[in-house]
Amino acid sequence: MDLGIRGKRALVCAGSKGLGLGCAEALAEAGVDLILNARGQDALDRAAEALRSRFGVDVQTVSADIATVEGQRKVLDVAGDVDILVNNAGGPPPGIWSDWAREDFQKALDANMLAPIAMMTAIMPKMIEKGWGRVVNITSQSVRAPIAQLGLSNSARAGLTGYVAGTARQVAPHGVIVNNILPGTHDTARATSLDKGRAQREGVDEAEARRRSQAEIPARRYGDPRDFGAVCAFLCSQQARFIVGQNILVDGGNTNLTM
Ligand code: NAD
Repeated sequence: MDLGIRGKRALVCAGSKGLGLGCAEALAEAGVDLILNARGQDALDRAAEALRSRFGVDVQTVSADIATVEGQRKVLDVAGDVDILVNNAGGPPPGIWSDWAREDFQKALDANMLAPIAMMTAIMPKMIEKGWGRVVNITSQSVRAPIAQLGLSNSARAGLTGYVAGTARQVAPHGVIVNNILPGTHDTARATSLDKGRAQREGVDEAEARRRSQAEIPARRYGDPRDFGAVCAFLCSQQARFIVGQNILVDGGNTNLTM
C-alpha cells in the first residue's frame, strides 16, 4: 500500500533504538525524511547511517534528552515545521507504590507526559497552518490495564492520554490527526530490563523469566519493533485521516478487553 507520505518530514523522538527506531524505519520505507532524536550520539549515528543506506532518505540527528526543556528546544530548532511527530521517551523504573517520592513522579511526568505535550504544543500550530499533520504518541498497554509495578508509568501515561483525548478532537478539523499506540511487551532493551526484574522477583534466570512472560501473551511471543513501526507509519499515512484520538493496542492480545 502506498501510504502517500513520500517526501514528508518526520521527527521521531527517542528513535535510535527499540520502538522509536521501528517507527523511524517504517517511515523511512514510506519515503519520509527524518529528524532522529536520542540521548547518545553513537547509537544515533549508527541508526541514521543504516536508514540512509537502506531507504535513501535524508536523516538528521539531534542528541538531546527530550525529557528536559533544554533538550526539547534543541530538537525543535532542528525539526522546524515537520509534518509528522512521533513522541517517545524511555519508560520509568518499576517498583511498588511506597517507593516513589515527588521527584520520581516529576521525572516520569517530564518524560512521559510533559515532553510529548510540549512537542505537540510547539509543532502542531505549524501543522494547523499547513492544514496537514500526523502525531503518534508511544504510550503503553498499561493505559488500558494498569500494571501494578509500573505505577509511575501508569500515572504519567494516564495524564497524556487524557490530554490527547481532548486535543486530538480540537486539531482534527485542521487536518491534524493525533493518536496513541499502546505497546505490549516488545523485544527491546526495555523488555530485557523487565525480564531481569521478573527473574529477581521469582528467583529464576532471565531466560526462564522471558519464557514465562511470553507464555502469558496470547500470541506467545514478544512483539517485533518493525511490526510496531508499521502500525505507526499507517497512523501517519493519508489513509489514517478518519482515525482520531484513538488508543491502539499492539500487544499480541495481552490486554483482555472487548473494547
Ligand atoms: P528502549 O529502551 O529500547 O529504547 C529507548 C530509546 O529511547 C533509545 O533510543 C534511547 O536512547 C531513547 N531515549 C530514552 N530516553 C530518552 C530521553 N529522555 N530523551 C531522548 N531519548 C531517549 O525502549 P523501548 O522498548 O523502545 O520503549 C519505548 C517506550 O515504550 C518507553 O517509554 C517504554 O516504557 C514504552 N513501552 C515499551 C514496551 C516494550 O515492551 N518495549 C512496552 C510498553 C511500553
